[in-house]
Amino acid sequence: MRELTAARDAHRKPEGIQKGRRGLLIVNTGHGKGKTTAALGLMMRAHGRGLRVRMFQFLKHDLARFGEHRTLDTLGIDHEGLGDGFTWRSRDLENSAALAAHGWELARAAIEASEHDLIVLDEFTYALTYGWVPWPEVEATLKARPALMHVVVTGRDALPELIALADTVSEIMPVKHAYDSGIGAQTGIEY
Ligand code: ATP
Ligand code: MG
Repeated sequence: MRELTAARDAHRKPEGIQKGRRGLLIVNTGHGKGKTTAALGLMMRAHGRGLRVRMFQFLKHDLARFGEHRTLDTLGIDHEGLGDGFTWRSRDLENSAALAAHGWELARAAIEASEHDLIVLDEFTYALTYGWVPWPEVEATLKARPALMHVVVTGRDALPELIALADTVSEIMPVKHAYDSGIGAQTGIEY
């Protein structure tokens, strides 16, 4: 029994974990609900393991106080809103492009600063698909990031190039959504 336990636990030695440790590029895409909340769940898990976590939200206003922002503040997790509180589609495109470019500069600086173990770029796919942030620049930054840094990108319609570069990609399919039955956004569930 003791041998069995030892064999079972052999792979759990800290040095074993360290040996295989590497930073992952994770993409949560698709048109179903759960991309951002999955990233938030991952942040919670990483934070619990002592990883230094930070989130940039490309569509949220910095003053947004959704449920997740309140919880992140309680946990002491850094988060920044980089948008103007509207979806890009509903605003003038020049302003949207400028906001996206500015947001990317901040995110890139954080990646290069190497002060975090997990960085989430929420709704960043749109900046790429609209061409507001050049893919080659993002690709170079992601490839040159610290070896142990995890990066999560969320948003619909991820670029094929981003999907190709990523280690883990999940596409969330909308089987059904309450919104389609005329049910409005619920506090604590949608925001
Ligand atoms: P969540 O933040 O709940 O994880 P998400 O990040 O997957 O959602 P987004 O595309 O960022 O989804 O859209 C954000 C908002 O739109 C959320 O309030 C979410 O409930 C809603 N939403 C997501 N998918 C759908 C859908 N298929 N139909 C209607 N509303 C949706
Ligand atoms: Mg989202």
